[in-house]
Amino acid sequence: METRATCPYCGVGCGVIIQHDGQRVIDVRGDPAHPANFGRLCTKGATLHLTTRPETRLLHPELRVARDAPRARAGWSEALAHAATKFADVIRRDGPGAVGFYLSGQLLTEDYYVFNKLAKGFIGTHNLDTNSRLCMSSAVTAYKQTLGADAPPCAYEDFDHTDCLLIAGANPAYAHPVAFRRIEAAKAARPDMKIIVVDPRRTDTAACADLHLAILPGTDVWLFNALLHVMLWEGYVNRPWVRQHTEGFEALRDAVRDVTPSVAAGICGVAEADIVQAAHWWGQARAPLSLWCMGLNQSHHGTHNGTALIALSLAVGKIGQPGCGPFSLTGQPNAMGGREVGGLANLLPAHRELANPRHREEVAAFWGVREISATPGLTAVELFEAVRAGQVRALWIACTNPAHSMPQQALIREALGKCEFVAVQEAYANTETAAFADLLLPARTWAEKEGTVTNSERRISRVEAAVAGPGETRADWRIACDFAHALGAALGREAEARRLFPYEDTAAIFAEHAASTRGRDLDITGLSHARLVADGPQQWPFPAGATHGTPRLYADGVFATANGRARFVVPVTTLTAETTDARFPLRLTTGRLRDQWHGMSRTGKSARLYAHADEACIDLAAPDCERRGLRDGELVRVSSRRGSIVLRVRTSAEIRPGQAFVAMHWGRNVLSSSGINELTLNHVDPDSRQPELKHLAVQVEKVELPHQALLMRSAVEADTANGLALERAAALEPWLCRFDHATLSLAGRDHAVLVLRIAHATPLPDAWLAELDALMGLQGEHCLAYTDARRAVSKKALVEEGLLTGLRLTGETAAAGWLTELMTGRAPTDAVRRWLFAPLAQPPVERASRGRIVCNCKDVSENEIRAAVAAGADLAELQRTLQCGTSCGSCVPEIKRLIGNA
Ligand code: SF4
Repeated sequence: METRATCPYCGVGCGVIIQHDGQRVIDVRGDPAHPANFGRLCTKGATLHLTTRPETRLLHPELRVARDAPRARAGWSEALAHAATKFADVIRRDGPGAVGFYLSGQLLTEDYYVFNKLAKGFIGTHNLDTNSRLCMSSAVTAYKQTLGADAPPCAYEDFDHTDCLLIAGANPAYAHPVAFRRIEAAKAARPDMKIIVVDPRRTDTAACADLHLAILPGTDVWLFNALLHVMLWEGYVNRPWVRQHTEGFEALRDAVRDVTPSVAAGICGVAEADIVQAAHWWGQARAPLSLWCMGLNQSHHGTHNGTALIALSLAVGKIGQPGCGPFSLTGQPNAMGGREVGGLANLLPAHRELANPRHREEVAAFWGVREISATPGLTAVELFEAVRAGQVRALWIACTNPAHSMPQQALIREALGKCEFVAVQEAYANTETAAFADLLLPARTWAEKEGTVTNSERRISRVEAAVAGPGETRADWRIACDFAHALGAALGREAEARRLFPYEDTAAIFAEHAASTRGRDLDITGLSHARLVADGPQQWPFPAGATHGTPRLYADGVFATANGRARFVVPVTTLTAETTDARFPLRLTTGRLRDQWHGMSRTGKSARLYAHADEACIDLAAPDCERRGLRDGELVRVSSRRGSIVLRVRTSAEIRPGQAFVAMHWGRNVLSSSGINELTLNHVDPDSRQPELKHLAVQVEKVELPHQALLMRSAVEADTANGLALERAAALEPWLCRFDHATLSLAGRDHAVLVLRIAHATPLPDAWLAELDALMGLQGEHCLAYTDARRAVSKKALVEEGLLTGLRLTGETAAAGWLTELMTGRAPTDAVRRWLFAPLAQPPVERASRGRIVCNCKDVSENEIRAAVAAGADLAELQRTLQCGTSCGSCVPEIKRLIGNA
């Protein structure tokens, strides 16, 4: 059987076709009819079916009735009644402002709608914010300040028409790969098209650019102002259009008068000539298009990063036409849908503003409630600070993992630990946040849920459920409705709750949401679930009577502001929230890996997705490693003004000296610390309230942790190996924080291998090793053991049916490399059996090391590509002989880089 849905990862919003037997998901492929991807998927989307294993799913409600008691299984009625009593007690005692909701851009629009109505329409609190605050809120405020509405004016098809694409603060090659495939195709079809990439790192995206402006972190506004300066000087500004359709230009013109390319070059750390070149390309372009994402948004002046970039489109009057405009990429699959229904602390449904009395009245009338409170809600960082301060006492978290993703994790842990009542609505039992839950409610997830989502280009897709959720899981909107009814009973307002939340299905919720948009900028009164199924995904606005959606906005030069004019904003020219000094001399930026998503609660379930990057690392430039006497693979202590963590160091040619990079995915489930968010700071943009997750000042020092161990475990049969790896990983997660450094990962392809790496300052106690052996299943008649107590060396090897299926190396790990390849490669052990415990750095019989996997779809490694390139192969030859880069294409930029570096 086949069912249409969308990929639950990034904001490209690719359509997928799920193959299933009604009970289990069997496979997934791209939907050829979906306009976001036309059948393409990236490595993450193409492996979705491998992430649906049941081992770590939350299957039943779990309730903790006393603070220090363990959670125990509960029925839904008991669980919801308990939550309702807790919320009602707090609301009666401390008012509605003492409860809060923290939601997710991964919820479906219908889920969001119900939660928003529950908080703002029924309880009377605007303390409802989401992880979209960490992702897109600066783009939202930038659009609203300049164009008047939170509406990206572009479409993906603009990639096919632009002749100058300026990508700033985004790495779509990794984070939005299917969109990047379209950019690559456009460039291949029209080689004269210019691509300019603004990024401190030489990412795979930057490597494909005609011009890479590797600016210093935080200097984006200076660069954009300098581009405008050159455009003014060279006469590229479309003054008649600016006069007719905008306001505020003179103030910005005056502000950039002294921002010459020379001045900006000094501040941004790039060549003056490159700034001038970029301005010429942009100014002369027939269809200039800008693209941005987290690199601009996650800044303490993220709004002004966006307004300064948008100003470049307004200055040339190129917006609303094919190939033109400022286009923000959405990080999450449905951050747009969440904003449409008002799912942020400052919003009301259909892009209405909480601060606007008329909007509050409209929403109160629409929902049939007495009033909408005028008291502002708390945004993400403020919400958790209020929890920490004891002002918010009951918190409901759905479909997100703030104990991983919020900045300054020590404060978040303190807040969650103190909170009087924490309910967590989750698909997975083992997220970092689940550990803090007084109540865990099992939610359905991808392939089990149905509703709608909106992607980066305002395109609404219908998502259908392929299989039933396991155990007692319920859809998120259903849980929200059930809780609303229970809370109504607890507050003595049951009839009102049943009137406000009467929904039997998501179609009814969507219909109400659509009705709320009548006459608004995002009017979708012409859409319904049935129409989306019949006619396919549609871009809003789509008012009643429309026959098709709207690919581009503002083509008539009339904007969503009160007077119809777009606005130029004079941006602040501060740099980063935190400066470097002698103690913290390195500028660290954060970002994404190609094959992982957010906190890895889903992608972390597939061994294949660790093949490209299997461990948390900090990237440093070679001179910074040399200065510190560091070699690749050594452990370092990374410290900021808020704490320190231990990571493995990797020399990278992608970053400049004085900078560092850490991916944001790794957290306490796979690492002995909370990862980089232990060190980030919670300084927010004053307009968008988005924290500066992208930049911090750090020091990196070598750390000596001489007592190392490697434990690995697989099984002979694939299904046993995969299932046991996840079960064992869940059992080992609480252990990670005992060690000075530890990482947990999966390796292999179809047979998962669980890998635990440990480094500790003192010898690992025998009792710990015995417990770890038991958790890893390193016992029994097939388990060989070797101990040299004098040298504190002990080793174990499990050999089943001629295969190495378990291993522990303690005190002597020289052979870790080839033994890992032996195990993940499932090679027979006969020839090497007597060497299993030898301290050999190289395999005793010749065996080519594969190294890191570059092409995940075709399982082609870096070493295999390097060898072929050394023999003279170009991209076409590599694709013909090794097949690498011939499926999803996510690895093509990296293959090109390997060819270029050869
Ligand atoms: Fe999913 Fe990849 Fe498409 Fe993003 S680009 S929606 S992660 S398949």
